Amino acid sequence: MKVTIVGAGPAGSLLAHYLLRRGQYQIDIYDSRPDPRKISFSKYRTFPLLLSERGLNALRNIGLEEAVKSHGIENTGMINYSKNSKFQELHRRKPILTIERNTLVNTLLEKLEEKDKNRQVNIYFNSRCIGVYFRHKRLKFKKETEEEITVGYDLLFGADGVRSVVRTHFLNTERFEFEQTYLHEVYKTVYLSRVNDKLVINLEPNKLHSWKLDDGTRLLAMPQPDNTLSCGLVFNHKKKSSNGYL
Ligand SMILES: Cc1cc2nc3c(=O)[nH]c(=O)nc-3n(C[C@H](O)[C@H](O)[C@H](O)COP(=O)(O)OP(=O)(O)OC[C@H]3O[C@@H](n4cnc5c(N)ncnc54)[C@H](O)[C@@H]3O)c2cc1C
Repeated sequence: MKVTIVGAGPAGSLLAHYLLRRGQYQIDIYDSRPDPRKISFSKYRTFPLLLSERGLNALRNIGLEEAVKSHGIENTGMINYSKNSKFQELHRRKPILTIERNTLVNTLLEKLEEKDKNRQVNIYFNSRCIGVYFRHKRLKFKKETEEEITVGYDLLFGADGVRSVVRTHFLNTERFEFEQTYLHEVYKTVYLSRVNDKLVINLEPNKLHSWKLDDGTRLLAMPQPDNTLSCGLVFNHKKKSSNGYL
């Protein structure tokens, strides 16, 4: 049976591990972006994730918890900073893992290739899904070269993220309900150093650090194993142009 997964993000690549474990499928994965293990840092669109017990358990069940943990940092709480050097510290009862999305995906893909001894998995990057034909069990993809290809499947999984094309096609099928709401916030990933001797800054490595301005703009800084801070600058989308943030 040929199982096709659209999207090689955290969900798609994790799903591939679970399917591979069953041993009975040929698994084809398609992703619109290039292989994240091969792209340059300037094109590396990523952001930090917090993985709680549910996510860690999903990794534990396929023997990947330690491999993933070795690329992340244990998070034991959060420090909220406010004006006049005041701060508030919140402790977690159980630590969770901080890891960059692409680092998580890279680890999942590497381990998938390692485990795929019988060559059951094919991963096709630069392949954007542009059509789903449920009746004939066929999918259409556009390659980097603009070439369009059509492939068949027996079982289909849409793991193509928040703007899923697979889900959009499901909307044309009977009795498929869907609701979507939008946040009024956008984000930009920024990298800073966790330690700065000149400015006498040495932020705690196992904490999430958070600053909030009066207008609601937030900076969430997550320490990484290489002493950088992977930060999410979160702000109202209207600020994008009016305040010149970007
Ligand atoms: C700033 C930010 C912070 C977040 N923090 C957290 C967090 O702390 N914890 C958490 O659990 N979640 C967090 N999330 C949510 C997070 O995005 C998801 O948990 C995680 O990335 C979902 O994985 P996914 O594989 O479902 O989707 P995605 O990560 O979006 O991956 C989808 C994949 O599908 C591919 N794709 C898309 N369209 C197509 C197409 N048409 N054809 C082929 N391939 C396609 C994309 O290239 C991508 O590789 C955060 C999101 C953002 C934006």
